[in-house]
Amino acid sequence: MVTLTQPAALVPPGPNGGGKHYHRADRRAVAAATTVRVGPHLIGGTALSIMAGPCSVESAEQLLATARSVKAAGATLLRGGAFKPRTSPYEFRGLGEEGLRLLADARAATGLPVITEVMSERDIDLIARYADVLQVGARNMSDFALLEELGRCGKPVMLKRGLQATIREWLLAAEYILAHGNSDVILCERGVRGFDNEFTRNTLDLNAVVVAKTESHLPVIVDPSHGTGRVDLVIPMARAAIAAGADGIMVEVHPDPPNALSDQKQQLDLPGFDRLMAELRPLAALLGRTIW
Ligand code: PEP
Ligand code: MN
Repeated sequence: MVTLTQPAALVPPGPNGGGKHYHRADRRAVAAATTVRVGPHLIGGTALSIMAGPCSVESAEQLLATARSVKAAGATLLRGGAFKPRTSPYEFRGLGEEGLRLLADARAATGLPVITEVMSERDIDLIARYADVLQVGARNMSDFALLEELGRCGKPVMLKRGLQATIREWLLAAEYILAHGNSDVILCERGVRGFDNEFTRNTLDLNAVVVAKTESHLPVIVDPSHGTGRVDLVIPMARAAIAAGADGIMVEVHPDPPNALSDQKQQLDLPGFDRLMAELRPLAALLGRTIW
């Protein structure tokens, strides 16, 4: 017989919303906001976390050129998808384990810890062997079996907000990971489906950043690449995210965006990422945040 695992201390229905409340993610549940250690960095502290890299890992050359360049400009983590959630099964779906190996090589070459997406419970052990942070993509935010297993994976998890998820649903998804034993959870706002898909891909919800920072003790990262879908909006919305109190950003960077195998329109080129960092530095200083 198959039974579902329940977190040890089930919270009874009560005035605080019972099962509909995020008891473990609640800001009031802990004295201090959570910081998540990744390599030499703390995510959620005074220092801003800058996660940068290509949408998809495509080749050793592409990844290394990007990793070296973003590291020199001040990135703290290297991102890159090896298992890619694509709308169509005929699009490039990533290099799989070979992509994970290339990420590990880029980490060895630059010292940057790596974050990459896990789409399925099936892949957790494999990805956890290579990555420093496991990313749950927007399309899988409500895969509760995946979230439960990530509670036991032993690595930090960054949980992206679902395309149509309310803020409570997002916090409750984080609660699944926390309730199954993993306290290293990072939230990531990446835009929600709005009604304008002519000029933007998604609507970056900066309200949600402030709400998540107030309602929970978890670090909050903003992804202005998927949040806008337009390279010319990435720098302004990254600035806005930091001004709103985000603990950092995740941005897509590619040496040759027009020829990228995914998300060509929203990836910064290498000089574009340098410009982003140059614009964030004075803003961070003004806000009492630091950049590596
Ligand atoms: C990604 O960051 O690679 C990604 C697919 O983003 P999202 O899940 O937010 O669409
Ligand atoms: Mn992408």
